[in-house]
Amino acid sequence: MASYPNADLRAELNAHGYRLTPQRQKILDIFCTLPQGRHLSAEDLHSALTQTGERIGLSTVYRTIHLMVYMGMLRELELAEGHKHYELNRPLRDHHHHLVCVYCNQTLEFSEDQVDQVGEKQAKSVGYYILDCQLTLYGICPNCDVQKPVL
Ligand SMILES: [Zn+2]
Ligand SMILES: [Zn+2]
Repeated sequence: MASYPNADLRAELNAHGYRLTPQRQKILDIFCTLPQGRHLSAEDLHSALTQTGERIGLSTVYRTIHLMVYMGMLRELELAEGHKHYELNRPLRDHHHHLVCVYCNQTLEFSEDQVDQVGEKQAKSVGYYILDCQLTLYGICPNCDVQKPVL
C-alpha cells in the first residue's frame, strides 16, 4: 500500500520547506485508499474531495496536484483519455508501468525490472538523476471486440 507513513513524509516535506497542509493530507488519504489500478484525474479528485465535504475549487485542485507532483508525492500519467491522471508516487524500486486499452480505457499495471534497469542505465549514462520511469503500452484489450489494425 501507500509508501508514505505520515511522519516520514512530514519530515521530508519540512526538509524541503513544504508543509503537509490538511488539504494535502486529505488528497493523500484519497489516493491511499484507491484500489490497485485506479488513477484519478484532477476532475475525479475534485469530486472525491467535494464528497468528503471539502470546499475547494477545481483550479486549486489543479495547483495543489502540480505542487504535489513537484514534491514527489504524486505521479503524473499520460493515459488513454488524452488528459492527465495521477497516482501515489511509490519508490522507484517497486513502481509499475501501464497497459491501456484505447477503446474502453481499461488500465492494467505491471512491474518489469528490466524496463527500470534500462531506464536507470540510460539516465546514468548521460549523468541524469532519475526520478521516475514510465512505460505506457497502448492497445486493444480482449474484451473490446473491434477490428485490429494491421501494422
Ligand atoms: Zn498505476
Ligand atoms: Zn478495452
